[in-house]
Amino acid sequence: GPLLQARDLHRSFGSTPALRGAELSVDAGEIVAVMGPSGSGKSTLLHCLAGIFPPDRGEVWFDGGRLDRLSESRRTELRRTSFGFVFQFGQLVPELTVADNIALPLLFNRADRKDAYRRADEWLTRLELDGLGGRRTGELSGGQAQRVAIARALVIHPRVLFADEPTGSLDSLTGERAMDLLTDLARAEGTTVVLVTHDARVAAYADREVMVRDGLVTSPYPVEGGR
Ligand code: ADP
Ligand code: ADP
Repeated sequence: GPLLQARDLHRSFGSTPALRGAELSVDAGEIVAVMGPSGSGKSTLLHCLAGIFPPDRGEVWFDGGRLDRLSESRRTELRRTSFGFVFQFGQLVPELTVADNIALPLLFNRADRKDAYRRADEWLTRLELDGLGGRRTGELSGGQAQRVAIARALVIHPRVLFADEPTGSLDSLTGERAMDLLTDLARAEGTTVVLVTHDARVAAYADREVMVRDGLVTSPYPVEGGR
């Protein structure tokens, strides 16, 4: 069965409906791009799937269990141990070094300090960031910073990597290089990826694309006839 599933998700912010019955099913190892116009509900869908906040109604299934029924502390624990996140901006701690930023999720998971920094070093190489471990992340270029963010998300070997407009702050060539590395590494690790983007060039890196409109996943499901 699927590793991750959204069933009839509803979520509103005040009187604004963001999700109105969204359905999505993601198999283990799949890279799925969630596309759609700005304001269609893509980020809200990602946040519900990742357990950042629960839906108002509907179910989120992860690895055979109801993620939406977990307590907030259990969801936090699950995110820390099983999920990686890459967002458009601001996920790195600018005062810390590149190596610190990558080692941090391992240290939060109580890894041995020396082992965490050894792993951080390996991921620097995998993201073509050799020699930058001692830099403050505030001093990096946008493309370098985004590759550090990818390393930081993957260093715990997450079951699922959630990426929300991961190249949104980059020029197209730098964004392509980041997507090449992200998808190559995810495939090498067997990591499932949920990738939110409004950019068809970014979605082209995925195995499969779905479209969100007005709070519903509208494709590739047939519009008529229901499920
Ligand atoms: P997308 O990621 O496709 O741009 P979002 O999921 O961010 O769409 O937003 C869907 C709808 O929900 C939009 O109308 C947006 O304004 C609204 N929305 C999202 N997050 C919030 C929030 N924290 N507070 C109020 N409205 C929100
Ligand atoms: P990598 O070089 O990709 O980090 P390793 O060969 O060092 O992989 O990892 C060996 C094994 O340790 C892998 O099966 C991996 O899943 C596991 N592992 C990696 N990070 C951790 C961690 N923080 N805690 C527990 N096990 C881990």
